[in-house]
Amino acid sequence: MADVIAPSAPLAFAFASLTAAAPVRYDGHALVRVWIDDARELAALRGRVDEIWTEHPGRGFVDARVRPHQLAALRDAGVAFELRAADLQAGIDAERERLRGAATPTASTWFDDFRDYDAIMAQLEAMAAAAPHRVSVVDLGASLEGRPIRGLRISDAPPGAPAVLYSGTMHAREWLATMATMCVADRFATADDTDAVVTDLLSAIEIWVVPVINPDGYVISWTEDRYWRKNARDGYGVDLNRNWDYQWAVVGASDDPYAEDYHGPAPFSEPESSALRDFIVARPQLRAHIDFHSFSQLVLRPWGYDYALPPDEATLSMLGQQMSDAMWDATATDYASIHAAELYPAAGAVDDWGYGVQGLMAFTIELRGDDFVVPPSQIGPACDENVAAALQLAAWVRQRAPEPPPEGGTTGDAPPPDHGGSEDGGPVDPDGGSDGTGEPSDDPPGADATPGGAALPPGFGLGHAQGGGCRSAEPRAPAWLLLVPWWLRRRRRQGT
Ligand SMILES: [Zn+2]
Repeated sequence: MADVIAPSAPLAFAFASLTAAAPVRYDGHALVRVWIDDARELAALRGRVDEIWTEHPGRGFVDARVRPHQLAALRDAGVAFELRAADLQAGIDAERERLRGAATPTASTWFDDFRDYDAIMAQLEAMAAAAPHRVSVVDLGASLEGRPIRGLRISDAPPGAPAVLYSGTMHAREWLATMATMCVADRFATADDTDAVVTDLLSAIEIWVVPVINPDGYVISWTEDRYWRKNARDGYGVDLNRNWDYQWAVVGASDDPYAEDYHGPAPFSEPESSALRDFIVARPQLRAHIDFHSFSQLVLRPWGYDYALPPDEATLSMLGQQMSDAMWDATATDYASIHAAELYPAAGAVDDWGYGVQGLMAFTIELRGDDFVVPPSQIGPACDENVAAALQLAAWVRQRAPEPPPEGGTTGDAPPPDHGGSEDGGPVDPDGGSDGTGEPSDDPPGADATPGGAALPPGFGLGHAQGGGCRSAEPRAPAWLLLVPWWLRRRRRQGT
């Protein structure tokens, strides 16, 4: 969602790059981590760096990219920081070299490294071709530069069954999120009859996956500017995750076209955000949504524009915590479940619109990592934990879906269809809920058939499926070792 704000000078640099043949270079640009105590310190840091990378900067550690002279100025000013990377261009060069020399991926190696737009579109087609009874390609429309925005429907249920949407790459440089979204698709699309969990989910609900919402930006990130975030609008780009029409532009977004969080001239001014909106509106069966981003290791729930609690806070917080727990179970990685606005309110994001206008249980997950350029060894564990979260949310939708038609048997006790969001699925009053005057949730925790929501078998998300190539092959660490990162993050959160 919210990495932040670059001043116009570096953006002019980026703009020049888009019209030139040579890719933008980041020679000598460093990545620094700074402890921030309050808004004043954050504002001061913004003035000293090229770009803040932490998606939701607030009290705590904030990562930022600095130019060489800015690094020297930080030192001169006595700002305490940790140098995380001394030369970002070195990482970009290594990644480019590795990808250039990579062999054409096969089915078994597809998730071994990052894949470009064409490879992802081809993989969607391949998944559909491999399981035509279950998987089909859907066209959402075209980007500004005419590239198709495509996704998959994966289901054995009749059209219109309760549905979950997983999407990624609204921000171009977040390649790990692209791969995690593809892993979610892979897990559902390649499950066979021995995978009882996924088979049961697909019998009753629809899975929709749109891995690249911002194709033009993604291509720019692969070819011209590795750290490009926005779409391709007029060389400067619009931040697609500030362009949604719910409390649009009220906070945490810029009206400067050269800012990294430029919200655009109007809500839904961009074809990419409009295409996803139209897709969602045309599918009233959708109940829940995860939009994948990187990085910060967070499970974010509405609201993002304000500190007020949403009317469905109980359900949203229960689901967020369940996903966080599932991710911990998968890889012992701590994703904090919080409100999107908790650290830094920002308006116009897809999750506020999805919940506030469509009544979806809408989440943003910020993946692992501390750079947008990460080694491919991160893909496996990122997939393990995010597939676990995706299955957890799907299980909640499944639990509330009607039972599939019996195959010669009798129907079980089917719970009635239940939207799960605001009472009528319509717009949520943005002022309701924070003070107890909003619509009461129709789904308090504990109202589900299973106490605490959709409980899943142990080991869920860790290699049940056959044939999927996206999961980590790394053995699990001994139990005591799994507690170390948790303990470290706890200490960090406590500021010790
Ligand atoms: Zn993002």
